[in-house]
Amino acid sequence: MRSIVWFRGKDLRVADHGPLTEAAATGELIPLFVLDPFFFAPAKARNLPHRMQFLLESLQALEASLARLGSRLLVVPGRSVEVVPRLASLWQVDQVLAHRWVEPFGRERDRRIGEALGQAGIAFQLFEGETLLPPGSVRTGQGGMFRVFTPFARACAPRIEASPLATPRGLPPLPVALPSEAVPIPSLESLGIRPNPRLLPGGEEPGRARLQTFLAGPFQDYGGDRNRMDRPGTSRLGADLKFGTLSVRSVWAAAAGVEAGMSGHAFLNELLWREFSHHLLWEWPELLERPFRPAFVGFPWREDEGAYEAWAAGRTGYPVVDAAARQLLAEGFVHNRARMVAASFLTKHLLVDYRRGEAHYLRWLTDGDWAANNSGWQWSAGCGCDAQPWFRIFNPVAQGQRFDPDGDYVRRWVPELAACPTACIHEPWKAPTRLRASLDYPDPIVDHALARARFLATAKGHLGRASS
Ligand SMILES: Cc1cc2nc3c(=O)[nH]c(=O)nc-3n(C[C@H](O)[C@H](O)[C@H](O)COP(=O)(O)OP(=O)(O)OC[C@H]3O[C@@H](n4cnc5c(N)ncnc54)[C@H](O)[C@@H]3O)c2cc1C
Repeated sequence: MRSIVWFRGKDLRVADHGPLTEAAATGELIPLFVLDPFFFAPAKARNLPHRMQFLLESLQALEASLARLGSRLLVVPGRSVEVVPRLASLWQVDQVLAHRWVEPFGRERDRRIGEALGQAGIAFQLFEGETLLPPGSVRTGQGGMFRVFTPFARACAPRIEASPLATPRGLPPLPVALPSEAVPIPSLESLGIRPNPRLLPGGEEPGRARLQTFLAGPFQDYGGDRNRMDRPGTSRLGADLKFGTLSVRSVWAAAAGVEAGMSGHAFLNELLWREFSHHLLWEWPELLERPFRPAFVGFPWREDEGAYEAWAAGRTGYPVVDAAARQLLAEGFVHNRARMVAASFLTKHLLVDYRRGEAHYLRWLTDGDWAANNSGWQWSAGCGCDAQPWFRIFNPVAQGQRFDPDGDYVRRWVPELAACPTACIHEPWKAPTRLRASLDYPDPIVDHALARARFLATAKGHLGRASS
């Protein structure tokens, strides 16, 4: 039996890799990665600078791991829908093995490739692995998808048997007479992207090290610290889970194996939020285009370019919102609490369409993921499945005071406020007059109370009309 093991950017590892393990057990295998212009055309790649950096580093690490095991990764440029069926025939393989993708465009790609391979008599087998349980397999008593997180999580937990597959000890070499169209892994520079030294390094080894560091340290206090923007209290595994340098099963198994009481429970619960977002997108692929709650269709979002630009650049005059915006651009990461405050501010204080924020985050986050990002934005805007109620509006000052009590998070990302006393770090407009005048920091672009009232009136009017 000869197989192509098709790595597709969400499974860049050799441990707990179903297709690799299966192919190694059944004969010859050819590890393949396709440089699809859907992502790798320079104009597209430049739009995802942080994700591209993490992905290329992870791909290089994968290439090295496969070589160490005795095989070789073939990197081939072209459109997957053309390249994969053509190479499968050219290389005379019996089957193509890959991991399933949840996103609608991935599903459509796989449908077309499955059809083309089928016509050539070649099997196409998709393995689970992006999620803990197969998407679409967790159902209510009536057979539908859950619309509320807690019962969904309750239904998942007993079914999760996270027993990750071991790394193969060795792999067969590539078949000798293989006509190859392989090219080297492109450099970031060749795609027109300047490397950002502040990103976490990509790859399976760095991912494993991050997991170990987290479990040996912050994990014990995760339940309490995970909301503190000023503390390194979370795992920072988002990009590893997104690009599959660690499988979600292995993260679950490792965390479940460490005694951490409520903190352990809280962390596993976050992995289940990730699970929920993926199952939602599987059930309702249209979520990438429209709000979950139909009443939000046609919501009167404002076209306010100036407000959007101030939000994206971190110049709104609200320190936590601005810190989040600048952290995103600088290091491709934003603390979850800061994501929630920033997203709420854009959609509720500024009344800007959540889809603009969603696209901006997807562009700059290293862990930018269609399912989790969409659900985070819809949750924050109040239009998502089991979302924050639309009438709950985060007060960015109170959020800062509570979750960044000494202002360390703000001072780190908004250095203009370094001299601001802690008492007014989250509302610098209240600083003593002379100090205020010396701070090169804008006044708030909207007044919290007025913006709150404006959103409530707008939403009430629209939702009232939508339900009548
Ligand atoms: C507006 C907004 C946008 C977001 N965009 C993304 C995104 O593009 N990609 C992404 O992975 N997460 C996203 N999240 C969820 C969450 O903010 C990040 O997963 C988390 O901050 C990543 O940091 P961490 O790895 O240290 O998280 P930890 O707290 O250590 O959590 C561990 C893992 O659980 C998962 N997770 C945690 N919280 C959530 C959540 N609410 N929803 C789904 N999965 C979760 C992630 O895979 C995360 O790496 C978004 C949240 C909001 C409010």
